[in-house]
Amino acid sequence: MSPDHLDVLIVGAGLSGIGAGYHLQHHCPSKSYAIFEAREDIGGTWDLFRYPGIRSDSDMYTLGYRFKPWKDAKAIADGPSILDYVKETARENGIDSKIHFRHRVVRAEWSSDEAQWTVTAERTDTGDRVTVTASFLFMCTGYYHYSEPYTPEFPNSERFQGEIVHPQHWTSDIDYAGRRVVVIGSGATAVTLVPAMAEQAAHVTMLQRSPTYIVSLPGEDPIAKLLHRFMSPKAAYAVLRWKNVLAQAAFFHLSRRRPRFVKGLLRRGAQRQLPADYPVDVHFRPKYDPWDQRVCLVPDGDLFRVLSDGSASIETDAIETFTEHGLLLKSGKELEADLVVTATGLNLLAIGGTELAVDGEEIDISETVGYKGMMLSGVPNLAIAIGYTNASWTLKCDLTCEYVCRLINELDAKGARQATPRLAPGTPTQPFIDLKSGYVERALDRFPKQGVHAPWRLYQNYARDILTLRHGEIDDGVLQLSNPEPAVKPAEPLAA
Ligand SMILES: Cc1cc2nc3c(=O)[nH]c(=O)nc-3n(C[C@H](O)[C@H](O)[C@H](O)COP(=O)(O)OP(=O)(O)OC[C@H]3O[C@@H](n4cnc5c(N)ncnc54)[C@H](O)[C@@H]3O)c2cc1C
Repeated sequence: MSPDHLDVLIVGAGLSGIGAGYHLQHHCPSKSYAIFEAREDIGGTWDLFRYPGIRSDSDMYTLGYRFKPWKDAKAIADGPSILDYVKETARENGIDSKIHFRHRVVRAEWSSDEAQWTVTAERTDTGDRVTVTASFLFMCTGYYHYSEPYTPEFPNSERFQGEIVHPQHWTSDIDYAGRRVVVIGSGATAVTLVPAMAEQAAHVTMLQRSPTYIVSLPGEDPIAKLLHRFMSPKAAYAVLRWKNVLAQAAFFHLSRRRPRFVKGLLRRGAQRQLPADYPVDVHFRPKYDPWDQRVCLVPDGDLFRVLSDGSASIETDAIETFTEHGLLLKSGKELEADLVVTATGLNLLAIGGTELAVDGEEIDISETVGYKGMMLSGVPNLAIAIGYTNASWTLKCDLTCEYVCRLINELDAKGARQATPRLAPGTPTQPFIDLKSGYVERALDRFPKQGVHAPWRLYQNYARDILTLRHGEIDDGVLQLSNPEPAVKPAEPLAA
Protein backbone atom coordinates (compact mmCIF):
# COMPACT_ATOMS: atom_id res chain seq x y z
CA MET A 1 0.00 0.00 0.00
CA SER A 2 1.32 3.44 -0.90
CA PRO A 3 0.91 6.18 1.71
CA ASP A 4 -1.29 9.25 1.01
CA HIS A 5 0.73 12.04 2.60
CA LEU A 6 4.27 12.12 3.90
CA ASP A 7 6.37 14.76 5.58
CA VAL A 8 9.32 13.64 3.45
CA LEU A 9 9.49 11.46 0.35
CA ILE A 10 12.97 10.11 -0.36
CA VAL A 11 13.47 8.97 -3.95
CA GLY A 12 16.04 6.18 -4.34
CA ALA A 13 17.23 3.42 -1.98
CA GLY A 14 20.95 3.48 -2.78
CA LEU A 15 23.77 4.52 -0.46
CA SER A 16 22.34 8.07 -0.28
CA GLY A 17 18.65 7.17 0.16
CA ILE A 18 19.36 4.76 3.02
CA GLY A 19 21.62 7.40 4.62
CA ALA A 20 18.82 9.95 4.24
CA GLY A 21 16.40 7.60 6.03
CA TYR A 22 18.84 7.22 8.92
CA HIS A 23 19.32 10.97 9.33
CA LEU A 24 15.58 11.69 9.21
CA GLN A 25 14.87 9.06 11.86
CA HIS A 26 17.52 10.52 14.14
CA HIS A 27 17.15 14.26 13.61
CA CYS A 28 13.46 14.57 12.72
CA PRO A 29 11.93 11.64 14.62
CA SER A 30 8.37 12.97 14.47
CA LYS A 31 8.37 13.22 10.66
CA SER A 32 6.75 10.58 8.50
CA TYR A 33 8.73 9.43 5.50
CA ALA A 34 8.90 6.76 2.84
CA ILE A 35 11.39 5.79 0.16
CA PHE A 36 10.25 5.21 -3.43
CA GLU A 37 12.71 3.01 -5.30
CA ALA A 38 12.36 2.16 -8.99
CA ARG A 39 14.25 -1.13 -8.76
CA GLU A 40 13.50 -4.33 -6.87
CA ASP A 41 16.25 -4.08 -4.30
CA ILE A 42 18.32 -1.82 -2.08
CA GLY A 43 21.79 -0.61 -3.03
CA GLY A 44 21.57 1.34 -6.31
CA THR A 45 25.03 1.34 -7.92
CA TRP A 46 26.23 -1.50 -5.70
CA ASP A 47 23.36 -3.75 -6.70
CA LEU A 48 23.22 -2.77 -10.39
CA PHE A 49 26.85 -3.31 -11.34
CA ARG A 50 27.87 -6.98 -11.40
CA TYR A 51 30.93 -6.98 -13.66
CA PRO A 52 34.09 -8.91 -12.67
CA GLY A 53 36.09 -7.18 -9.94
CA ILE A 54 33.42 -4.49 -9.22
CA ARG A 55 34.83 -2.42 -6.33
CA SER A 56 35.00 1.08 -4.92
CA ASP A 57 37.56 3.44 -6.34
CA SER A 58 37.78 5.52 -3.20
CA ASP A 59 38.41 4.25 0.34
CA MET A 60 35.53 2.98 2.46
CA TYR A 61 36.54 5.11 5.48
CA THR A 62 35.23 8.08 3.50
CA LEU A 63 32.71 6.29 1.24
CA GLY A 64 31.08 4.77 4.35
CA TYR A 65 28.55 6.71 6.42
CA ARG A 66 29.89 8.91 9.20
CA PHE A 67 27.47 7.18 11.60
CA LYS A 68 28.42 3.58 10.77
CA PRO A 69 32.08 2.56 10.98
CA TRP A 70 33.49 0.53 8.10
CA LYS A 71 35.18 -2.30 10.02
CA ASP A 72 36.54 -4.41 7.17
CA ALA A 73 40.32 -4.45 6.72
CA LYS A 74 39.87 -3.70 3.03
CA ALA A 75 39.82 0.06 2.45
CA ILE A 76 39.11 -0.47 -1.26
CA ALA A 77 36.14 -2.79 -1.01
CA ASP A 78 34.43 -5.12 -3.47
CA GLY A 79 30.88 -4.36 -4.64
CA PRO A 80 29.14 -7.18 -2.70
CA SER A 81 30.71 -6.01 0.61
CA ILE A 82 29.51 -2.46 -0.01
CA LEU A 83 26.05 -3.76 -0.85
CA ASP A 84 26.01 -5.76 2.42
CA TYR A 85 27.01 -2.62 4.32
CA VAL A 86 24.14 -0.60 2.80
CA LYS A 87 21.63 -3.41 3.41
CA GLU A 88 22.86 -3.88 6.99
CA THR A 89 22.38 -0.15 7.66
CA ALA A 90 18.82 -0.35 6.31
CA ARG A 91 18.03 -3.48 8.34
CA GLU A 92 19.59 -2.33 11.62
CA ASN A 93 17.61 0.89 11.57
CA GLY A 94 14.31 -0.40 10.21
CA ILE A 95 14.75 1.74 7.09
CA ASP A 96 14.02 -1.28 4.88
CA SER A 97 10.39 -1.25 6.06
CA LYS A 98 9.97 2.28 4.64
CA ILE A 99 10.90 1.33 1.07
CA HIS A 100 8.34 0.95 -1.69
CA PHE A 101 10.11 -0.99 -4.42
CA ARG A 102 9.22 -0.83 -8.12
CA HIS A 103 8.01 2.78 -7.70
CA ARG A 104 9.67 4.99 -10.32
CA VAL A 105 9.01 8.66 -9.61
CA VAL A 106 8.19 10.37 -12.90
CA ARG A 107 6.71 13.75 -11.96
CA ALA A 108 6.44 16.12 -9.01
CA GLU A 109 4.26 19.23 -8.89
CA TRP A 110 4.62 21.81 -6.16
CA SER A 111 1.64 23.84 -4.97
CA SER A 112 2.40 26.87 -2.81
CA ASP A 113 -1.28 27.03 -1.76
CA GLU A 114 -1.07 23.53 -0.33
CA ALA A 115 2.65 23.82 0.52
CA GLN A 116 3.24 20.32 -0.78
CA TRP A 117 4.44 18.24 -3.69
CA THR A 118 2.09 15.95 -5.55
CA VAL A 119 4.32 13.15 -6.72
CA THR A 120 3.46 10.63 -9.42
CA ALA A 121 5.23 7.29 -9.50
CA GLU A 122 4.93 4.52 -12.03
CA ARG A 123 4.79 0.92 -10.80
CA THR A 124 7.51 -0.81 -12.80
CA ASP A 125 5.76 -4.20 -12.41
CA THR A 126 2.18 -3.26 -13.32
CA GLY A 127 2.56 0.09 -15.09
CA ASP A 128 -0.02 1.56 -12.67
CA ARG A 129 0.39 5.14 -11.52
CA VAL A 130 0.55 5.98 -7.83
CA THR A 131 0.11 9.48 -6.40
CA VAL A 132 1.33 10.70 -3.05
CA THR A 133 1.73 14.14 -1.51
CA ALA A 134 4.81 15.18 0.43
CA SER A 135 5.90 18.34 2.21
CA PHE A 136 9.53 17.79 1.26
CA LEU A 137 11.15 15.87 -1.60
CA PHE A 138 14.62 14.42 -1.17
CA MET A 139 16.06 13.18 -4.47
CA CYS A 140 18.63 10.44 -3.75
CA THR A 141 18.55 9.21 -7.33
CA GLY A 142 22.27 9.10 -8.06
CA TYR A 143 23.65 10.74 -11.19
CA TYR A 144 23.31 8.40 -14.14
CA HIS A 145 20.78 6.62 -16.31
CA TYR A 146 20.14 3.11 -14.99
CA SER A 147 18.96 1.45 -18.19
CA GLU A 148 20.93 3.35 -20.87
CA PRO A 149 24.70 3.34 -20.41
CA TYR A 150 26.83 5.31 -22.84
CA THR A 151 27.97 3.32 -25.88
CA PRO A 152 29.28 5.25 -28.87
CA GLU A 153 28.50 3.96 -32.37
CA PHE A 154 31.33 1.67 -33.42
CA PRO A 155 31.64 1.12 -37.19
CA ASN A 156 30.42 -2.29 -38.32
CA SER A 157 29.97 -3.67 -34.81
CA GLU A 158 27.23 -5.95 -36.22
CA ARG A 159 29.88 -7.78 -38.26
CA PHE A 160 31.64 -9.03 -35.12
CA GLN A 161 30.90 -12.72 -34.51
CA GLY A 162 31.89 -12.65 -30.84
CA GLU A 163 30.02 -11.11 -27.94
CA ILE A 164 29.80 -7.38 -27.09
CA VAL A 165 28.67 -6.35 -23.62
CA HIS A 166 28.51 -3.09 -21.65
CA PRO A 167 29.62 -3.53 -18.00
CA GLN A 168 26.34 -1.97 -16.82
CA HIS A 169 24.54 -4.92 -18.45
CA TRP A 170 26.93 -7.62 -17.20
CA THR A 171 25.27 -10.85 -16.08
CA SER A 172 26.83 -13.73 -14.16
CA ASP A 173 26.42 -16.17 -17.09
CA ILE A 174 28.96 -14.34 -19.28
CA ASP A 175 31.83 -16.76 -19.59
CA TYR A 176 35.26 -15.34 -20.32
CA ALA A 177 37.51 -18.15 -19.08
CA GLY A 178 40.11 -18.94 -21.73
CA ARG A 179 38.69 -16.34 -24.13
CA ARG A 180 40.40 -13.35 -25.74
CA VAL A 181 38.92 -10.20 -24.28
CA VAL A 182 39.17 -6.57 -25.41
CA VAL A 183 38.06 -3.94 -22.91
CA ILE A 184 37.34 -0.61 -24.62
CA GLY A 185 37.92 2.31 -22.25
CA SER A 186 40.43 3.74 -19.81
CA GLY A 187 38.32 4.90 -16.87
CA ALA A 188 37.66 3.44 -13.42
CA THR A 189 35.58 0.56 -14.81
CA ALA A 190 38.16 -0.47 -17.43
CA VAL A 191 41.05 -0.47 -14.93
CA THR A 192 38.92 -2.60 -12.59
CA LEU A 193 37.88 -5.08 -15.27
CA VAL A 194 41.29 -5.70 -16.81
CA PRO A 195 43.10 -7.24 -13.79
CA ALA A 196 39.96 -9.08 -12.65
CA MET A 197 39.33 -10.69 -16.06
CA ALA A 198 43.03 -11.39 -16.67
CA GLU A 199 42.86 -14.05 -13.93
CA GLN A 200 40.75 -16.33 -16.16
CA ALA A 201 40.83 -14.96 -19.71
CA ALA A 202 43.32 -16.15 -22.33
CA HIS A 203 44.43 -12.53 -22.63
CA VAL A 204 42.89 -9.11 -21.92
CA THR A 205 43.66 -6.05 -24.02
CA MET A 206 42.68 -2.64 -22.72
CA LEU A 207 42.00 -0.50 -25.79
CA GLN A 208 42.11 3.18 -24.91
CA ARG A 209 41.79 6.22 -27.14
CA SER A 210 43.87 8.24 -24.70
CA PRO A 211 45.56 7.49 -21.37
CA THR A 212 44.28 8.22 -17.86
CA TYR A 213 46.24 9.08 -14.70
CA ILE A 214 46.47 5.99 -12.52
CA VAL A 215 47.61 5.85 -8.92
CA SER A 216 48.19 2.71 -6.91
CA LEU A 217 47.26 2.53 -3.21
CA PRO A 218 47.30 -0.35 -0.72
CA GLY A 219 43.98 -2.25 -0.82
CA GLU A 220 44.31 -2.69 2.96
CA ASP A 221 45.34 0.45 4.80
CA PRO A 222 48.34 -0.41 7.06
CA ILE A 223 47.48 2.48 9.42
CA ALA A 224 43.96 1.09 9.76
CA LYS A 225 45.37 -2.27 10.82
CA LEU A 226 47.54 -0.56 13.43
CA LEU A 227 44.75 1.65 14.81
CA HIS A 228 42.31 -1.25 15.04
CA ARG A 229 44.74 -2.97 17.42
CA PHE A 230 44.39 -0.40 20.19
CA MET A 231 41.32 1.71 19.39
CA SER A 232 37.60 0.99 19.31
CA PRO A 233 36.20 0.60 15.75
CA LYS A 234 34.35 3.91 16.18
CA ALA A 235 37.42 5.89 17.25
CA ALA A 236 39.65 4.27 14.63
CA TYR A 237 37.05 5.03 11.94
CA ALA A 238 36.93 8.72 12.89
CA VAL A 239 40.74 8.99 12.74
CA LEU A 240 40.98 7.10 9.43
CA ARG A 241 38.20 9.14 7.91
CA TRP A 242 39.95 12.42 8.67
CA LYS A 243 43.33 11.06 7.60
CA ASN A 244 41.87 10.14 4.22
CA VAL A 245 39.81 13.32 3.84
CA LEU A 246 42.97 15.37 4.36
CA ALA A 247 45.07 13.15 2.08
CA GLN A 248 42.47 13.34 -0.74
CA ALA A 249 42.13 17.12 -0.35
CA ALA A 250 45.91 17.62 -0.28
CA PHE A 251 46.36 15.52 -3.43
CA PHE A 252 43.56 17.36 -5.24
CA HIS A 253 44.84 20.84 -4.34
CA LEU A 254 48.43 19.92 -5.13
CA SER A 255 47.27 18.62 -8.53
CA ARG A 256 45.47 21.88 -9.28
CA ARG A 257 48.34 24.13 -8.05
CA ARG A 258 51.42 22.13 -9.12
CA PRO A 259 50.19 19.94 -12.02
CA ARG A 260 53.68 19.36 -13.45
CA PHE A 261 54.99 18.11 -10.13
CA VAL A 262 52.04 15.73 -9.70
CA LYS A 263 52.34 14.52 -13.31
CA GLY A 264 55.96 13.58 -12.61
CA LEU A 265 54.98 11.84 -9.39
CA LEU A 266 52.31 9.74 -11.11
CA ARG A 267 54.60 8.90 -14.03
CA ARG A 268 57.34 7.71 -11.71
CA GLY A 269 54.77 5.69 -9.74
CA ALA A 270 53.67 3.85 -12.91
CA GLN A 271 57.22 3.39 -14.17
CA ARG A 272 58.35 1.80 -10.89
CA GLN A 273 55.69 -0.90 -11.18
CA LEU A 274 56.24 -1.77 -14.85
CA PRO A 275 59.10 -3.49 -16.69
CA ALA A 276 62.07 -1.22 -17.46
CA ASP A 277 61.37 -1.07 -21.22
CA TYR A 278 57.60 -0.45 -20.85
CA PRO A 279 56.35 2.51 -22.98
CA VAL A 280 54.99 4.47 -20.01
CA ASP A 281 54.69 7.70 -21.97
CA VAL A 282 52.53 6.06 -24.64
CA HIS A 283 50.01 4.42 -22.29
CA PHE A 284 50.17 6.41 -19.03
CA ARG A 285 50.76 10.02 -20.01
CA PRO A 286 47.47 11.89 -20.54
CA LYS A 287 47.39 15.20 -22.41
CA TYR A 288 45.38 16.91 -19.64
CA ASP A 289 46.46 17.78 -16.08
CA PRO A 290 45.73 15.50 -13.09
CA TRP A 291 42.20 16.13 -11.78
CA ASP A 292 41.03 17.86 -14.96
CA GLN A 293 39.44 14.42 -15.15
CA ARG A 294 39.13 11.91 -12.30
CA VAL A 295 42.36 10.17 -11.35
CA CYS A 296 41.86 6.39 -11.31
CA LEU A 297 42.89 4.35 -8.33
CA VAL A 298 44.15 0.75 -8.52
CA PRO A 299 44.56 -1.30 -5.33
CA ASP A 300 48.00 -2.83 -4.74
CA GLY A 301 49.04 -1.98 -8.33
CA ASP A 302 46.88 -4.83 -9.69
CA LEU A 303 46.69 -3.30 -13.18
CA PHE A 304 50.47 -2.84 -13.37
CA ARG A 305 50.94 -6.43 -12.19
CA VAL A 306 48.91 -7.99 -15.03
CA LEU A 307 50.60 -5.72 -17.58
CA SER A 308 53.97 -6.86 -16.23
CA ASP A 309 53.20 -10.59 -16.24
CA GLY A 310 51.78 -10.40 -19.79
CA SER A 311 48.25 -11.60 -18.99
CA ALA A 312 47.02 -8.17 -20.10
CA SER A 313 48.23 -5.40 -22.38
CA ILE A 314 47.27 -1.88 -23.42
CA GLU A 315 46.74 -0.46 -26.90
CA THR A 316 46.49 3.32 -27.17
CA ASP A 317 44.83 3.73 -30.53
CA ALA A 318 41.48 4.47 -32.19
CA ILE A 319 39.02 2.00 -33.71
CA GLU A 320 38.83 1.98 -37.50
CA THR A 321 36.19 -0.76 -37.65
CA PHE A 322 34.92 -3.92 -36.05
CA THR A 323 35.69 -7.02 -38.15
CA GLU A 324 34.26 -10.56 -37.99
CA HIS A 325 37.04 -11.56 -35.60
CA GLY A 326 37.74 -8.44 -33.59
CA LEU A 327 38.85 -4.87 -34.19
CA LEU A 328 40.93 -3.13 -36.80
CA LEU A 329 42.68 -0.08 -35.33
CA LYS A 330 43.54 3.19 -37.08
CA SER A 331 47.24 2.25 -36.89
CA GLY A 332 46.45 -0.84 -39.00
CA LYS A 333 46.90 -3.25 -36.10
CA GLU A 334 44.25 -5.96 -35.63
CA LEU A 335 43.01 -7.19 -32.28
CA GLU A 336 41.36 -10.59 -32.33
CA ALA A 337 38.69 -11.07 -29.70
CA ASP A 338 35.99 -13.44 -28.53
CA LEU A 339 34.46 -10.91 -26.14
CA VAL A 340 34.49 -7.10 -26.29
CA VAL A 341 33.55 -5.18 -23.16
CA THR A 342 32.57 -1.58 -23.88
CA ALA A 343 33.62 0.21 -20.68
CA THR A 344 32.68 3.47 -22.39
CA GLY A 345 30.90 5.04 -19.47
CA LEU A 346 27.62 6.28 -18.16
CA ASN A 347 24.92 8.62 -19.35
CA LEU A 348 24.44 11.24 -16.66
CA LEU A 349 20.86 11.90 -15.56
CA ALA A 350 19.73 14.57 -13.11
CA ILE A 351 17.11 13.78 -10.41
CA GLY A 352 16.36 10.38 -11.92
CA GLY A 353 14.66 11.98 -14.92
CA THR A 354 11.79 13.34 -12.78
CA GLU A 355 9.74 16.15 -14.37
CA LEU A 356 9.20 19.11 -12.05
CA ALA A 357 6.57 21.85 -12.00
CA VAL A 358 6.16 24.66 -9.48
CA ASP A 359 2.76 26.34 -9.18
CA GLY A 360 1.76 25.21 -12.66
CA GLU A 361 5.04 26.17 -14.37
CA GLU A 362 7.27 23.48 -15.82
CA ILE A 363 10.83 23.62 -14.48
CA ASP A 364 13.69 23.22 -16.93
CA ILE A 365 16.38 22.01 -14.57
CA SER A 366 19.16 23.32 -16.84
CA GLU A 367 17.87 26.85 -16.20
CA THR A 368 18.12 26.49 -12.43
CA VAL A 369 21.18 27.19 -10.31
CA GLY A 370 22.29 24.86 -7.53
CA TYR A 371 22.03 26.31 -4.01
CA LYS A 372 24.71 24.93 -1.64
CA GLY A 373 25.14 22.15 -4.20
CA MET A 374 21.85 20.54 -3.15
CA MET A 375 18.75 22.72 -3.78
CA LEU A 376 17.60 24.46 -6.97
CA SER A 377 16.87 28.15 -7.46
CA GLY A 378 13.13 28.81 -7.47
CA VAL A 379 12.26 25.22 -6.49
CA PRO A 380 10.83 24.93 -2.95
CA ASN A 381 11.30 22.06 -0.50
CA LEU A 382 13.44 19.88 -2.72
CA ALA A 383 16.99 18.70 -2.05
CA ILE A 384 19.29 16.50 -4.10
CA ALA A 385 21.98 14.16 -2.74
CA ILE A 386 25.00 14.69 -4.99
CA GLY A 387 28.44 13.67 -3.82
CA TYR A 388 31.85 15.11 -4.52
CA THR A 389 33.72 14.53 -7.76
CA ASN A 390 37.12 14.89 -6.08
CA ALA A 391 36.43 12.85 -2.92
CA SER A 392 34.07 10.15 -1.71
CA TRP A 393 30.40 10.63 -2.55
CA THR A 394 29.08 9.98 0.96
CA LEU A 395 31.12 12.74 2.60
CA LYS A 396 28.90 15.30 0.90
CA CYS A 397 25.69 13.26 1.07
CA ASP A 398 25.97 12.81 4.85
CA LEU A 399 26.30 16.61 5.19
CA THR A 400 23.41 17.17 2.76
CA CYS A 401 21.21 14.90 4.92
CA GLU A 402 22.20 16.79 8.08
CA TYR A 403 21.37 20.08 6.38
CA VAL A 404 17.99 18.84 5.12
CA CYS A 405 17.06 17.75 8.67
CA ARG A 406 18.16 21.11 10.09
CA LEU A 407 16.12 22.88 7.42
CA ILE A 408 12.98 20.84 8.14
CA ASN A 409 13.34 21.56 11.87
CA GLU A 410 13.95 25.27 11.19
CA LEU A 411 10.77 25.48 9.10
CA ASP A 412 8.84 24.06 12.04
CA ALA A 413 10.52 26.42 14.51
CA LYS A 414 9.67 29.45 12.32
CA GLY A 415 6.13 28.25 11.61
CA ALA A 416 6.94 28.27 7.87
CA ARG A 417 6.06 25.58 5.34
CA GLN A 418 8.18 26.54 2.37
CA ALA A 419 11.93 27.04 1.80
CA THR A 420 12.89 28.44 -1.62
CA PRO A 421 16.38 29.46 -2.73
CA ARG A 422 15.91 32.84 -4.45
CA LEU A 423 18.49 33.80 -7.07
CA ALA A 424 19.05 37.53 -7.62
CA PRO A 425 18.62 38.45 -11.32
CA GLY A 426 21.92 38.73 -13.18
CA THR A 427 23.80 36.36 -10.86
CA PRO A 428 26.73 35.02 -12.95
CA THR A 429 26.78 31.26 -13.49
CA GLN A 430 29.10 28.54 -14.70
CA PRO A 431 28.77 24.78 -15.42
CA PHE A 432 27.80 22.62 -12.45
CA ILE A 433 30.78 20.25 -12.61
CA ASP A 434 34.30 21.40 -13.41
CA LEU A 435 35.65 18.13 -14.80
CA LYS A 436 36.56 17.86 -18.47
CA SER A 437 35.64 14.17 -18.77
CA GLY A 438 33.57 13.17 -21.81
CA TYR A 439 30.65 11.88 -19.73
CA VAL A 440 30.44 15.21 -17.88
CA GLU A 441 30.74 17.38 -21.00
CA ARG A 442 28.06 15.32 -22.80
CA ALA A 443 25.53 16.06 -20.06
CA LEU A 444 26.26 19.55 -18.73
CA ASP A 445 23.46 21.18 -20.74
CA ARG A 446 20.94 18.94 -18.97
CA PHE A 447 22.22 19.76 -15.46
CA PRO A 448 21.68 22.82 -13.24
CA LYS A 449 24.35 25.51 -13.26
CA GLN A 450 26.35 26.80 -10.33
CA GLY A 451 27.20 30.37 -9.35
CA VAL A 452 30.62 31.87 -8.82
CA HIS A 453 30.17 32.72 -5.13
CA ALA A 454 28.61 31.09 -2.07
CA PRO A 455 25.91 29.93 -1.59
CA TRP A 456 25.52 29.23 -5.32
CA ARG A 457 28.99 27.86 -5.93
CA LEU A 458 29.84 24.17 -5.61
CA TYR A 459 33.17 24.23 -3.77
CA GLN A 460 33.84 20.46 -3.65
CA ASN A 461 35.47 21.08 -0.28
CA TYR A 462 34.47 18.93 2.71
CA ALA A 463 35.93 21.18 5.43
CA ARG A 464 34.13 24.21 3.99
CA ASP A 465 30.89 22.24 3.68
CA ILE A 466 31.08 21.19 7.34
CA LEU A 467 31.08 24.87 8.28
CA THR A 468 28.24 25.86 5.95
CA LEU A 469 26.03 22.77 6.02
CA ARG A 470 26.48 21.51 9.58
CA HIS A 471 27.00 24.82 11.36
CA GLY A 472 25.99 27.66 9.00
CA GLU A 473 22.81 29.75 9.33
CA ILE A 474 19.81 28.23 7.55
CA ASP A 475 18.11 31.62 7.26
CA ASP A 476 20.89 33.25 5.21
CA GLY A 477 18.86 35.83 3.34
CA VAL A 478 18.98 33.72 0.14
CA LEU A 479 16.87 30.77 1.24
CA GLN A 480 13.43 32.27 1.70
CA LEU A 481 11.41 30.68 4.50
CA SER A 482 7.76 31.50 3.86
CA ASN A 483 4.20 30.28 3.64
CA PRO A 484 2.99 29.95 7.25
CA GLU A 485 0.11 27.62 8.02
CA PRO A 486 -3.09 29.62 7.30
CA ALA A 487 -4.84 30.68 10.50
CA VAL A 488 -7.88 28.53 11.16
CA LYS A 489 -10.95 30.75 10.74
CA PRO A 490 -13.22 30.83 13.80
CA ALA A 491 -16.48 29.06 13.07
CA GLU A 492 -19.32 31.36 11.92
CA PRO A 493 -21.94 31.74 14.67
CA LEU A 494 -25.08 29.93 13.71
CA ALA A 495 -27.92 32.23 12.63
CA ALA A 496 -30.61 32.48 15.25
C1 LIG B 1 30.94 1.35 -10.85
C2 LIG B 1 30.89 2.54 -9.94
C3 LIG B 1 31.81 2.66 -8.90
C4 LIG B 1 31.77 3.76 -8.06
N1 LIG B 1 32.69 3.87 -7.07
C5 LIG B 1 32.69 4.96 -6.28
C6 LIG B 1 33.65 5.12 -5.25
O1 LIG B 1 34.51 4.30 -5.04
N2 LIG B 1 33.62 6.23 -4.51
C7 LIG B 1 32.68 7.20 -4.72
O2 LIG B 1 32.69 8.19 -4.01
N3 LIG B 1 31.75 7.06 -5.65
C8 LIG B 1 31.73 5.98 -6.44
N4 LIG B 1 30.78 5.85 -7.42
C9 LIG B 1 29.69 6.80 -7.49
C10 LIG B 1 28.49 6.09 -6.79
O3 LIG B 1 27.43 6.04 -7.63
C11 LIG B 1 28.25 6.68 -5.41
O4 LIG B 1 29.35 6.47 -4.60
C12 LIG B 1 27.05 6.11 -4.66
O5 LIG B 1 26.96 4.72 -4.68
C13 LIG B 1 25.83 6.76 -5.17
O6 LIG B 1 24.80 6.43 -4.31
P1 LIG B 1 23.37 7.05 -4.53
O7 LIG B 1 22.47 6.37 -3.58
O8 LIG B 1 23.45 8.54 -4.45
O9 LIG B 1 23.02 6.73 -6.04
P2 LIG B 1 22.79 5.31 -6.72
O10 LIG B 1 23.67 4.28 -6.17
O11 LIG B 1 22.84 5.56 -8.18
O12 LIG B 1 21.31 4.93 -6.29
C14 LIG B 1 20.21 5.68 -6.77
C15 LIG B 1 18.95 4.88 -6.56
O13 LIG B 1 17.87 5.71 -6.96
C16 LIG B 1 16.97 4.94 -7.76
N5 LIG B 1 16.28 5.87 -8.66
C17 LIG B 1 16.82 6.65 -9.62
N6 LIG B 1 15.85 7.38 -10.22
C18 LIG B 1 14.68 7.05 -9.63
C19 LIG B 1 13.34 7.47 -9.82
N7 LIG B 1 13.00 8.39 -10.73
N8 LIG B 1 12.38 6.92 -9.03
C20 LIG B 1 12.70 6.00 -8.09
N9 LIG B 1 13.96 5.56 -7.87
C21 LIG B 1 14.94 6.09 -8.63
C22 LIG B 1 17.87 3.97 -8.50
O14 LIG B 1 17.13 2.84 -8.94
C23 LIG B 1 18.90 3.63 -7.43
O15 LIG B 1 18.52 2.53 -6.65
C24 LIG B 1 30.79 4.76 -8.26
C25 LIG B 1 29.89 4.64 -9.32
C26 LIG B 1 29.94 3.55 -10.15
C27 LIG B 1 28.95 3.46 -11.28
